[in-house]
Amino acid sequence: MFLSIKKTIDKLLNIGFEDEFGNDLNQKHVVNFSYMMFCASCLLMLVVFSIRHMPLAAIFSLIGMFIGLVGLRYNYIGHFSRAQLLMPVLKISQVSILSLFYFGTDSGFHWFFVSVIAYSFVVFRADQRFSKYWIVCISIVLFFVCELLGTRGVYLTSFEQRAVIIFVFLGLSFNFAIVINLVMSRLKSVNSHLRTLAERDELTGLSNRRKVLADAVNIFADAVINRESCVFSIVDLDHFKKINDTFGHEAGDLVLAKVSAIMASVIRPQDEIGRYGGEEFIVIMPSTSLQEAEVVMEHMRQSVEDLLIETEHGIVIPVTISVGLASIAPSVSRYEEILAQADKGLYTAKRNGRNRLSVQTDYQD
Ligand code: GH3
Ligand code: MG
Ligand code: MG
Repeated sequence: MFLSIKKTIDKLLNIGFEDEFGNDLNQKHVVNFSYMMFCASCLLMLVVFSIRHMPLAAIFSLIGMFIGLVGLRYNYIGHFSRAQLLMPVLKISQVSILSLFYFGTDSGFHWFFVSVIAYSFVVFRADQRFSKYWIVCISIVLFFVCELLGTRGVYLTSFEQRAVIIFVFLGLSFNFAIVINLVMSRLKSVNSHLRTLAERDELTGLSNRRKVLADAVNIFADAVINRESCVFSIVDLDHFKKINDTFGHEAGDLVLAKVSAIMASVIRPQDEIGRYGGEEFIVIMPSTSLQEAEVVMEHMRQSVEDLLIETEHGIVIPVTISVGLASIAPSVSRYEEILAQADKGLYTAKRNGRNRLSVQTDYQD
């Protein structure tokens, strides 16, 4: 029950989103949330005014609710700026009419103007300064008019007036809590998106050079501290320039993406793989002996060789990799030394005819 209510609220909040990381993601959230709150408050007043036999006020609340739903629909069909502007107009009208004519200005109901001001600052972009400042000015002026008038609610007893003040206080607190929550979750999702952008290689979807080298530092440090073995491996596509020259750069990109996907699928969960640059990759295997690493990398080499990559014209592009491997040794004090060893191994694999592994064991070379 609670879950399905939460799901419905999430769905309503997400009305009108096409691009998850678009510029106005949080603004749309706040606009949708404001309409939901507005409709809910109209519904509440519709019930209260109906019970108290105040037909005019009840009809007024019903109309408010209807216009609120129109605003939500604007957002749904993509008229975001209309929805954005209609909300404060509605809210200003609602707060003024209720404060001045129903609850009386000493009910404190006009404090809801604060939420209109906050709305304007959160929802309008820098290029919508004109709308923003007009709405803020009108709200401030109306707020002070209400403060100065100090009229008593025509229809309300002092008990009801107190109830209105509590309602205003709770309503405002809830409003701000939700808006802050929305902005925080937006910041979190933007943050993790930015981190992904900073750590991923766009073409292959693997970790980029910065990320894989950071992993290398950590895995190397762990291996030293725990006196464990770890293996670094450098993988290079064979005659990749020829693939580009023969089939075109786009086909080259396709090969890189497909080979990356197969390589990522054959490594073990604890291993890290990343694009070192161009058509070169690094695989880091923590807590692994050279023999174990050879098995993993031979499986990778075979899988790439077996890969069937077709161009859009149906031509199969043959692709193979050469692999250099090296493991940590007692004399090694920096991870770059293992990488340099693995690179030597790669050079040997290339020299010996490509499409093969070469394990580099001797750091004296
Ligand atoms: P070897 O077997 O000795 O490694 O030969 P190779 O042709 O693979 O090596 P070489 O270093 O001569 O060429 C690498 C080529 O990879 C040259 C470069 O244009 C190409 N390349 C690098 N990055 C990309 C990329 O992102 N996309 C495509 N399509 N090509 C790339
Ligand atoms: Mg190459
Ligand atoms: Mg290369």
